[in-house]
Amino acid sequence: MYVSPFVGYGECFRVINNPNITVHYNTETVDVLSNTKGQMSGILLRRVDTGEETELEAKGLFYGIGHSPNSQLLEGQVELDSSGYVLVREGTSNTSVEGVFAAGDVQDHEWRQAVTAAGSGCMAALSAERYLTSNNLLVEFHQPQTEETKKEFTQRDVQEKFDITLTKHRGQYALRKLYHESPRVICVLYTSPTCGPCRTLKPILNKVVDEYHNDVHFVEIDIEEDQEIAEAAGIMGTPCVQFFKNKEMLRTVSGVKMKKEYREFIEANK
Ligand SMILES: Cc1cc2nc3c(=O)[nH]c(=O)nc-3n(C[C@H](O)[C@H](O)[C@H](O)COP(=O)(O)OP(=O)(O)OC[C@H]3O[C@@H](n4cnc5c(N)ncnc54)[C@H](O)[C@@H]3O)c2cc1C
Repeated sequence: MYVSPFVGYGECFRVINNPNITVHYNTETVDVLSNTKGQMSGILLRRVDTGEETELEAKGLFYGIGHSPNSQLLEGQVELDSSGYVLVREGTSNTSVEGVFAAGDVQDHEWRQAVTAAGSGCMAALSAERYLTSNNLLVEFHQPQTEETKKEFTQRDVQEKFDITLTKHRGQYALRKLYHESPRVICVLYTSPTCGPCRTLKPILNKVVDEYHNDVHFVEIDIEEDQEIAEAAGIMGTPCVQFFKNKEMLRTVSGVKMKKEYREFIEANK
């Protein structure tokens, strides 16, 4: 095992006294070596005093990169402690400047863990939101809907306007046409106007369909608008996704699943 020298006094003492650990003083890591299978097999070490290089057999390498907070840009702007950590009021994310909140390792000289950093990030975000709200500074921003997505997801396909070269469609006319004429995998999303999870699933499927747009046709069926076809497909609840190819129903997926699940199915059947 190769051990970084970036440890505290107590830890240093424990490292030196541990018979399973060899400390390589005055040594730097030059390269990671691999075997013929491309797996890590060792590291190339170099003595900084003599320049001598040696190989050390190892299956893993763990870097310790130091504990100096990268807070130089904050010097003179918010209060820092003598080691450069941002000072926050205990139990809060509040810094010395009103409306400036700190989170993560830069304000934590004790725990410095991903989970504590994430937790304090949540505190800082909520604090910032509260600060903006209480000072009437909150401005809601909504992503503008592009004409393309608006059109593709709201207009119901009708006979005159049906275009098989488009990936996304809506309504039973499109489904019937695609069922008979499309060589692609057809992904049918059955929704209803009052279905909350449908609103969660739509952007998920939208992204997956965009990834495979040449291999898939997408049709949204509102089961209230197109009751007849929903009944024929045996849809009992929404959201529900059915996959078809070559006039065959391949799979029914009820509820909201992770992107991965839809992606893997399309990938395997495209
Ligand atoms: C080798 C190693 C192993 C670890 N293992 C674990 C572990 O097993 N479990 C665990 O819970 N924690 C582990 N940690 C700790 C964990 O990674 C940190 O606690 C966590 O990443 C801190 O998150 P953060 O967002 O506060 O800081 P960081 O993840 O360091 O993010 C800070 C970001 O700010 C960017 N940045 C810095 N300066 C500027 C600037 N001037 N302008 C713009 N951007 C800037 C940086 O590039 C970086 O992306 C490990 C840390 C290290 C180094």
